[in-house]
Amino acid sequence: MRVLIVGNGGRESALAVKLKEDGRISKLYFAKGNATTDKLGQNVYEDDVVELRKFALKERIDLTIVGPEAPLVDGIVDEFHRHGLTIFGAKKRAAELEGSKAFSKKFMQMHHIKTGKAVIFDAYQDAIDYVRTQQFPLVIKASGLAGGKGVVIANNLGEAESTIHSFMIGRLYGDAGIQVVVEEYLDGFEASIIAFSNGKKLFPCIPVKDYKKVGTGDKGPNTGGMGSVAPSPEFTEVHYKDFEENILNPTLAGLHASNIHFKGFIFFGLMVTQNGVYLLEYNMRLGDPETQVILPLMENKLLDVINDCLDGKDVELKFSGKKAVCLVMASGGYPGNIETGFEIRNVEKAHSQVLFSGARNVGDKVITSGGRVLSLVATADSYEEARNAVYADAKTINFDYEYYREDIGKF
Ligand code: ATP
Repeated sequence: MRVLIVGNGGRESALAVKLKEDGRISKLYFAKGNATTDKLGQNVYEDDVVELRKFALKERIDLTIVGPEAPLVDGIVDEFHRHGLTIFGAKKRAAELEGSKAFSKKFMQMHHIKTGKAVIFDAYQDAIDYVRTQQFPLVIKASGLAGGKGVVIANNLGEAESTIHSFMIGRLYGDAGIQVVVEEYLDGFEASIIAFSNGKKLFPCIPVKDYKKVGTGDKGPNTGGMGSVAPSPEFTEVHYKDFEENILNPTLAGLHASNIHFKGFIFFGLMVTQNGVYLLEYNMRLGDPETQVILPLMENKLLDVINDCLDGKDVELKFSGKKAVCLVMASGGYPGNIETGFEIRNVEKAHSQVLFSGARNVGDKVITSGGRVLSLVATADSYEEARNAVYADAKTINFDYEYYREDIGKF
C-alpha cells in the first residue's frame, strides 16, 4: 500500500513512525516532510491541492492523510474525491469549523454546545461600541486562520479597541480579520480531545494536556505548542462526562443536523473552569504536539482505524495504561524572530524518540530550519519517569540557540 502524508511537523513524524510499523505499507511519501520523514519514506515538494492530487494520481497513492489545516480549508479532500482518490480528512465545508471562528461559534450556539458567550461582528464600529459595554478581560478573535496569532486576551478597553482596529482596519492578518468574534474570558486549565470520525459517529482518544505558552510557568506568548502529556492528569472522569454530554454528543447531533459529514479527525480545544468544561474551538485535524503523545499509547493499528472509519465502520480505540510526555526543543526567539541553519548534535545518543519538525538533513548532518525543531517523546509507567527521560535527552542534544520549557509534565 502506498501512503501520502501531507505536512511537515512533529505530528507528521509521529504519524510516520506509527505507520512505518505496519508491514502493509510499502511506500510512504511526505509533502513536504522533514528530517525524520526523509529517513522513513520520501519527501516530495508538491504544494497546493491540485499539485498534490496530480502527484497522488501519478504515484498511484492508495491513501492520503492530511496533517495541517490549510489544505483542508483549501478543499484537498473534495479535490481528491473528485478524482476517485482515497483521503482521510475533513471536507471543505467541515473544515470551515476550524477555518472560520464565526462559523464555528454560530454552529456551537445553534446546537447548544457548551461554549463561552460570544458576539460576532462584521462592522468595526459595532465591535467597538460593544466592547465599550463589556467587562475585562475579554477575548478578541480574528475569525479566519491566523497561525495561532489571531486570538488576543484584552485586559482593558484600550487593548480591546486597538486589537479590533488592527484586525478589522489595519488588516494585520489580511482577510482573517474581516470578521471578529468577541468572547467572554474563561478562566481554567486547557485540555485537548481528538476524535476519529467515520462519517456517522465520533470516537474520542484520551485527553491530552498541551503547553501552549512559550515560557516555563505558562509565561509569554502562545505558540504552536511547547510540549504535551497524555493522558491529561487534570482531566477527570467527571470532566469527561461533562464533555461527552455537553460538547461531544451535541456536536455529533449538530454535524448531522447541518448535514456536515466527513471521515477524518476533529479536535476539541477545551477550557475546564469552575463551572465545568467549555469548548474553545474545533480543529479539523490532529494536534501538534498532541499526536506525538497519543499515537505511542494507542494500541490499535492506525491503518486499521483509518480504514474502518473510511468504510463507515465503528472502531474501538484502545490505549495502554502508560503515560507519555513530549518536550519540544525550539529555536530561541520562537514564536518571534529566529535564526536557523545550525547543526543538531548528539541525536544518536538520545534514549527517547526524536521526532524532527523544523529540521532537515543536509549530507550526513541535521540542520535546524524552523521554530519548533524537534519533539522528544518518552512513554513510561509514571509521568515522572517519562519526564526524566525527555529532559535527560534535551540536555544531551544540542544546537545553537536551543530553547525548551523546564516544566513539561511537572504537576
Ligand atoms: P488561530 O486561528 O490564530 O490559529 P487558534 O485556533 O489557536 O488561533 P483558539 O484556540 O480559539 O485559537 O484560541 C487560542 C488560545 O487562546 C486558546 O488555546 C486559549 O489559551 C486562549 N483562549 C481562546 N478563547 C479563550 C477564552 N474564551 N477564554 C480564555 N482563553 C481563551
